[in-house]
Amino acid sequence: MPRQNSAQHRNEVDEFDIEINSRDDKKLMYVNRDRGGCCRYYKCILFILFLGVALAVAFEFFIDIEQVQNFFSSTPSVDDAAELDAEKRNSEDGNLRFRSIVNDQGRSVLRFKILQLADLHFGENPWTDWGPAQDRRSSIAIQSYIRDENPDLVILSGDQLTSKNIDANATMYHSKIIAAMLEAKPEIKWATIFGNHDDEMYRRTYDDGTIVQHDAKTSREDLVALDMAYKGSYTLQGGAPDFVSGTSNYVLSIQGDTDTDVLLNTYFFDSGGGHIAKMNHQNQITWFRNQQNQTPKIPSVAFQHIPTSEDAFAYRGNICGGPSGEGVSPVNTDSGLMQALIDDGSVHFMSVGHNHGNDYCCPANGNINSVLSLCFGRHSGHGGYSTYKDGVKWDKGARIYMMEYEEDRFNWSSYVRTENGNIEDEYQP
Ligand SMILES: [Zn+2]
Repeated sequence: MPRQNSAQHRNEVDEFDIEINSRDDKKLMYVNRDRGGCCRYYKCILFILFLGVALAVAFEFFIDIEQVQNFFSSTPSVDDAAELDAEKRNSEDGNLRFRSIVNDQGRSVLRFKILQLADLHFGENPWTDWGPAQDRRSSIAIQSYIRDENPDLVILSGDQLTSKNIDANATMYHSKIIAAMLEAKPEIKWATIFGNHDDEMYRRTYDDGTIVQHDAKTSREDLVALDMAYKGSYTLQGGAPDFVSGTSNYVLSIQGDTDTDVLLNTYFFDSGGGHIAKMNHQNQITWFRNQQNQTPKIPSVAFQHIPTSEDAFAYRGNICGGPSGEGVSPVNTDSGLMQALIDDGSVHFMSVGHNHGNDYCCPANGNINSVLSLCFGRHSGHGGYSTYKDGVKWDKGARIYMMEYEEDRFNWSSYVRTENGNIEDEYQP
């Protein structure tokens, strides 16, 4: 302990004695004892430093930092999300419904409009300027599609994220997408499925050749829990029984404008990728068939991220609507899902994303007598690889599906709304 000049010490004590003596002797004794103990300033500083180090060590070893972060962030648990979901569905206005409108031909119809956001790829190269700039451009594009189209339901068809670039909690990026949709239309409703890039392994190669890689920090389940906690989310986890493989298999029933009659079934399949096998499973087909057998056959549509089959989805020239800029990259095995959709006879289209360079609808297998058409959504985000024609990059866009009932007659059509407001690649089955 460094020695203090005793005269100086005495003077300090005397000043206190004089000041406090006039009020209360007990206080004087306390102050003097304190000053003789830890109230020497350097001791106090040492004590505070020691306390700080001890707290830091305790934090590191005894407290799960992520748990603390999660506590303070608003990311809900799967259970919380399911509870919110049940609450929402029990409310009167929670149903997805066709709307009664007068169409361009002046006829009264019931219409349900879906807007597909395909391959947004948020979260690319967050350590650069251009990565976050791409995300901002994608947010603006999302808002423009929604404002131009005012859809009844948005479908996020997978590859919302590029998780191989995200060395952090990826729910932040998924939230940005939701924020952009809500900004454009606060009462927006959406349903989400996942692709092969939403939960793939993080991998970064540094300039000196060092490679850092690890599992994605955010799982499909984490993303679905976040998604479902929003009032506008119609995403379901556990929408299909437990034996069905994947995170996002479910069916949404779209009702009439005023009654509870179901007019359209919308199926969602998890085609895998990322942390799970890139395939359709036999159990998905069993679930689909069981589901269809439970109700009278009504028009149905389906979404998944990856095409089921190369042949069925192949480009067929002038019987298709929209361009082909690359081949078809299907799941490793579709286990017969495509044939099940064709055999069912009530599925009007399956739409996928995945191939950013394909943007067409064609009759399945090129068979113009088939009820089923197969479509690719237009690459909607500025993340992910782009496609060029004659050196010019394709505009980003969103594929629109217009389902209509005129009296009892069902029909549908599709087109792409670009971020510049143009309408392209129309298709009439
Ligand atoms: Zn993609």
